[in-house]
Amino acid sequence: MSAIQALLALQTDDLAIHDLEMRLAALEPRIRDLDAKRQRIVDAIERQSGVVSAEEKKQAFLRDKIQEHRGLIDRNQAQLDAVKTMRQATAAAAQMEQARRIVAGEESDLLALNRKLEELRGSLNAAKADLTACEAEQAAARTEVAAERATLEGELATATAKRATTAAAVPDDLRRRYDRIRTKKRVHVVVALNALACGACDTAIPMQRRHAMMTGSVIELCEVCGVLMYHQV
Ligand SMILES: [Zn+2]
Repeated sequence: MSAIQALLALQTDDLAIHDLEMRLAALEPRIRDLDAKRQRIVDAIERQSGVVSAEEKKQAFLRDKIQEHRGLIDRNQAQLDAVKTMRQATAAAAQMEQARRIVAGEESDLLALNRKLEELRGSLNAAKADLTACEAEQAAARTEVAAERATLEGELATATAKRATTAAAVPDDLRRRYDRIRTKKRVHVVVALNALACGACDTAIPMQRRHAMMTGSVIELCEVCGVLMYHQV
């Protein structure tokens, strides 16, 4: 096998590896989409839990206040029972009336708060059900992506092992030139001449280099686009 043939075989292996790497990378957005969709529900649950516990704190506070004000009514009642004069009776009754109005107001606030909490807990539970449904729905997709990844990783391991063998057949200096030029974005760097011009950028080969290249044993760097050019014999 000539050096050029060995180099072309190496490039073929590298193109196959590149293709597998691209297909592996293409799995990432699929996982990201699944994660993002799930995370939106998790965030909603967290937000709603926060609202529910804030309202629960208000509820506990209101209950304490109602209890405290009921105690006040009881004390007012005791005072009313103990009054001796009409004036004292009128004052005690007015105090009592005021305390009752306060408690009535607080109780109606508590009722409204209880109803609100019930609704909030309802949406929190709905969000939790959404999460369960989302996870069940995504399970198949995640399994599928994981299986595709395992297959591609297996193929990549095989292709990489094959490449090591192929690379060993390429003369060291040529392989080093090739490896220097090749990048993640630029994988096709060994190009056949196309009618005495670079097969990649179409720049004509200088007259003085043509003869050597036409023998089919010389590989030249294109000074315009940087690929390795050879003449297909
Ligand atoms: Zn070129």
